[in-house]
Amino acid sequence: MSETDLTSTGFVAALDRDDPLAPFRDRFFYPEGKIYLLGNSLGLMPKAARASIERVTGEWEQLAIDGWMHGNPPWFWLAERLGERMAPLMGAEAEEVIATGTTTVNLHALTAAFYEPKGRRTKILTDSLAFPSDAFALQGQVRLHGLDPAEHLVLIPNQLEILTDEAIAATLTGEVALVVLPAVVYRSGQRLDIQKWTRLAHNRGILVGVDCSHAAGIVPHRLHDWEVDFAVWCGYKYLNGGPGCSAFLFVHRRHFHRTAPLAGWFGSKKEKQFTMSLDLDKQETAGGWQISSPGIIGSVSLEASLATIQAAGGISPLREKSLRLTGYLIDLADRLLSANRYGISVVTPRQPERRGGHVALRCGADGLAIAQALKSRGVIVDFRAPDLIRLAPSPLYNTFSETRKAVLVLKEIIDSGAHEPFRSQRPLVT
Ligand SMILES: *Cc1c(COP(=O)(O)O)cnc(C)c1O
Repeated sequence: MSETDLTSTGFVAALDRDDPLAPFRDRFFYPEGKIYLLGNSLGLMPKAARASIERVTGEWEQLAIDGWMHGNPPWFWLAERLGERMAPLMGAEAEEVIATGTTTVNLHALTAAFYEPKGRRTKILTDSLAFPSDAFALQGQVRLHGLDPAEHLVLIPNQLEILTDEAIAATLTGEVALVVLPAVVYRSGQRLDIQKWTRLAHNRGILVGVDCSHAAGIVPHRLHDWEVDFAVWCGYKYLNGGPGCSAFLFVHRRHFHRTAPLAGWFGSKKEKQFTMSLDLDKQETAGGWQISSPGIIGSVSLEASLATIQAAGGISPLREKSLRLTGYLIDLADRLLSANRYGISVVTPRQPERRGGHVALRCGADGLAIAQALKSRGVIVDFRAPDLIRLAPSPLYNTFSETRKAVLVLKEIIDSGAHEPFRSQRPLVT
């Protein structure tokens, strides 16, 4: 395909015309006049979320305490209902998933349950590109055992933002008790073969936790069949649940009997919770790892967003369009931005099965200034130090034309030097 074909409005208009998910854009509040490419950071608000939230606030107003049992549906089982809806997107059984807490808290709760340093097997393995909050949680869990994270939290080394198969395989040693891997690396967008690493880790006597925050709602999983031991993910990224909404956790059925060291009363069997006994009778499902009362107002939006994904046909059509969007983005960046004068290169793996839902461009020393210039022109992307710009088109609400426009605006910014005035500014949230 020639360059003019790929970048022409005719070419891209045809892609949009043939897109079966195109009608779904209308189900979201899309920021007027912007190109929103941050579905991996904060997904847009589904229009149906407003009705869900208003229903619950109305129930609070009218029913007060009775909302727990007589809300429609009752609040008491909201976490389980959301888990049930979420489960098929992750290849999990309904009882293996619960909506609860937040990602970092859930990672703490499950690491506390699954990390049991013994004998010479005392270490947690994670990757050197880990999301800082995950690394902080794992450091804290190591310290709770009286161990030093400098020695007992091992980091898989990376090569220019990529975790190689050799590096992962070499670090899964007999000293590792638990490995926590990202399903998709939040920086580069690299997707790991969780099935393969789970099998290898299990063969070597290592338990496996997966952070699916940058993968849930955009990449298919088979958490149950892959025999992943536990997983966590947020609700506000590709799942569009809203800022700070409930997160999710997965515990494989074969571990339902394990204890929940960070116990709380919402982990009780439902029928026992209000006996007020001081002996916890833990649910023998993922629900057993709940700690506190679920934030009903903050979680009910997920009901609307999960229903929207369901209406779109579930995870397969989303993944299919997402791969086409990111593939197109990568092709455009290669053709338009790879010349020396732009100093931009694609970091994200090119093989479809090796990438998640976003594309990362290495942008050199001007990365932050370029990201800000893009934002000032209505192209909403983010920047991850030291030099990555991330673009995350959502298959639910982004078009091929928008991805084309974003790359053209980026090119034009560098051509004209429009980013230069931003060089001295450093915002608090990037
Ligand atoms: C977004 C994200 C988080 C966020 O954690 P919160 O507890 O929701 O603030 C944690 N880990 C990863 C890998 C993420 O992508």
